[in-house]
Amino acid sequence: MSQLYRPINFYAEYMKRTYGQRIQKVSVEAGFTCPNRDGKVATGGCVYCNNESFSPLLNRQLSIADQIANNIISMKRRYKKAKQYIAYFQSYSNTYGALEHLKDLYSQALSHPDVIGLAIGTRPDCINDEILNYLSELSQEYDITIEYGLESKNDTTLKNINRGHDYQCFLDAVAKTAKYKIKICAHIIVGLPGEERAEWIDTAKELSKLPIDFLKIHQLHIVKDTVLGTQYQKAPFPLLSENEYIDIMVEFLEHLDNRIVIQRIFGEAPSEVLLSPSWDKSISQLRIQIESIMDNKGTYQGRLCTLSK
Ligand code: SF4
Repeated sequence: MSQLYRPINFYAEYMKRTYGQRIQKVSVEAGFTCPNRDGKVATGGCVYCNNESFSPLLNRQLSIADQIANNIISMKRRYKKAKQYIAYFQSYSNTYGALEHLKDLYSQALSHPDVIGLAIGTRPDCINDEILNYLSELSQEYDITIEYGLESKNDTTLKNINRGHDYQCFLDAVAKTAKYKIKICAHIIVGLPGEERAEWIDTAKELSKLPIDFLKIHQLHIVKDTVLGTQYQKAPFPLLSENEYIDIMVEFLEHLDNRIVIQRIFGEAPSEVLLSPSWDKSISQLRIQIESIMDNKGTYQGRLCTLSK
């Protein structure tokens, strides 16, 4: 296996290699809910979920086309080099609706001349052949990724956090999506109660065997107005420190196939809702820190993965 030119195969560089320029994600709020909240699967939602607080600035009154147009204008001010965008359907379950409704929303996003694709966040129990077939057609022309929340591969943890699906459901969704040749991103949380280091390292090994293209990882955040937040406020439990998390991530990445592109390795929650942990570095400082630790150790993503090329 060979080392990447940087120790971690990050998304920004991958997109630059693919498109020859910076590609920026632009978030939209499509007004979906989630079957883990509306009663189809459950009503309480995942114990850590406070989706409202993560999209406070998005104006739900606007159409997708208007949100895209407005957000791209402000993105252009912030990221002067970004000329093309991926529309990111992020909050809740963005395939949870009738196909005609989904077509309307996705088409509005893709109608902007600077939008080259879609990233669609959803649950693994919220897709079907009809939707996948449509996304597969779109992917002939656009850059389409489905992002599945897994969070943990441990069924006991999934039950404890009230995910409302098991690991097999995720595996089935990934296998089905791969058949349609649509790009797949998985999302996991590291630090959930009841789990330990060995389990997370094993997750890296297992994910390496799956046909996923991208991975988002973030540390467990305890936020206000969640079941976990209430439990934590009543009886605080230990969370990973910044150094512990980075140390685990180094080993995690060593075991993760280097073909899997890392879209995120540290999460961020708005300070007004975050209860814990409160780390004092920005995401970019943390990224620099972990890359420099890996450089100094002479290690890199996939070093201990037999599948890495
Ligand atoms: S995290 Fe996602 S799946 Fe869980 S309740 Fe929130 S929106 Fe639903």
